Amino acid sequence: MPQCLRCGNTSNFGSSRLPNTTPWVNGAVSALVGNFSGEEVNYLENMGTTLENSEQAFAHPERYFDTCSACGSTDIIWP
Ligand SMILES: [Zn+2]
Repeated sequence: MPQCLRCGNTSNFGSSRLPNTTPWVNGAVSALVGNFSGEEVNYLENMGTTLENSEQAFAHPERYFDTCSACGSTDIIWP
């Protein structure tokens, strides 16, 4: 699972590749937020990106999720 090096978050990450186009929704940094459980993507919160992007992110989360949803840091490590 990914981990934020700044705050230690291991469950919620956004993607800088998919900027949030509706920033008034939850104040999220990304149009897609990944909720991780252990090694797997638990679920994705789609906040305005396409289904194709969502499916790609689910299949290859390490290519997409690079921003901590808790503190906004991009210092993310993947195992
Ligand atoms: Zn963090």
